[in-house]
Amino acid sequence: MPSKEYYFRNFNPPSADNKLENMIIIDGKKVASEIRVELKREVDKIKEAGKSVPGLVTILVGDNAASKVYVGSKAKACDEIGFLSKIENLPATATEEELLNVVQSYNLNPDYHGILVQLPLPKQISESNIINSIAPEKDVDGFHPVNVGNLVIGNDTFFPCTPAGIQELLKRYKIETKGKHVVVVGRSNIVGKPIANILLQKKEFANAIVTVCHSAAADLKKYTLSADILIAAIGVPNFIKADMVKEGTVIVDVGINRVEDSTREKGYRIVGDVDFENVAPKASFITPVPGGVGPMTIAMLLQNTFKAYLKSGK
Ligand code: NAP
Repeated sequence: MPSKEYYFRNFNPPSADNKLENMIIIDGKKVASEIRVELKREVDKIKEAGKSVPGLVTILVGDNAASKVYVGSKAKACDEIGFLSKIENLPATATEEELLNVVQSYNLNPDYHGILVQLPLPKQISESNIINSIAPEKDVDGFHPVNVGNLVIGNDTFFPCTPAGIQELLKRYKIETKGKHVVVVGRSNIVGKPIANILLQKKEFANAIVTVCHSAAADLKKYTLSADILIAAIGVPNFIKADMVKEGTVIVDVGINRVEDSTREKGYRIVGDVDFENVAPKASFITPVPGGVGPMTIAMLLQNTFKAYLKSGK
């Protein structure tokens, strides 16, 4: 067994079993690829039966470089498992009405079971008007108010992809959530609020006692120190420090932050919201960044699209 210091210096790539003494590094890349293999198997069966396959359309407005990359990765992931996929690219000058018309055409198109509008949208378009215009049964991002409401009530619905990915990781690593104190730092509509609501449900792989913290917390440590499972969705590099967590905590780091790094070709590297090097030795499980929660988002998008396909009765 190498020393912790050696391990962290050489963290990338991790050791074969992703294990260091009593701490396990959660391998989101591996789990995401397992999910893709499982879905591909299902699609192969559908093809063999001569049926039409699940379809996802991604709508991109403008040419934001990061959005283009995200949309490209989603389409590639669909192609790899045999989904039908399409990218609709509208110019940055597109009006809200034009975008509403495109969404409506896919609401009515039976070949596409999932519709994803890549956010953010240009200023002239209201994001909420667009989200509200997607047919809830095709809203594979899980952002439509009907799906958000169903999530809160505990009805079957589409969970937003990143929080769905967090629950899936906890499930696949057999991390007990029932009766555990989950502390979520961050209350965004795409991560903090939905993961809190998912883990609060009186269901399997949930049933936790949930506390949600945000920037108005005067003494954040008071809450984080009592967490059995700490979920950081803050957007501040290395924000969660070792003195904020107790021994044995499960750490889920959702953050994706760029920090300057002149040793890298690109001049930056990606880090999470957790000070990994110092927090990991206290953790029982921890998600690394990159390679933890991040890869799960697209896998869950594929899973939601497959679910939409099944629900469509195809
Ligand atoms: P967001 O909308 O900016 O929300 C950040 C949350 O953190 C807010 O609720 C904010 O509180 C809270 N916060 C900020 N500073 C705080 C402090 N000092 N103490 C306590 N709480 C504080 O961010 P987001 O969209 O949820 O994303 C969070 C991080 O996750 C980002 O790094 C993002 O890139 C990453 N992310 C990753 C994925 C993925 O892995 N696929 C997906 C989505 C997001 P207030 O509400 O009071 O402002």
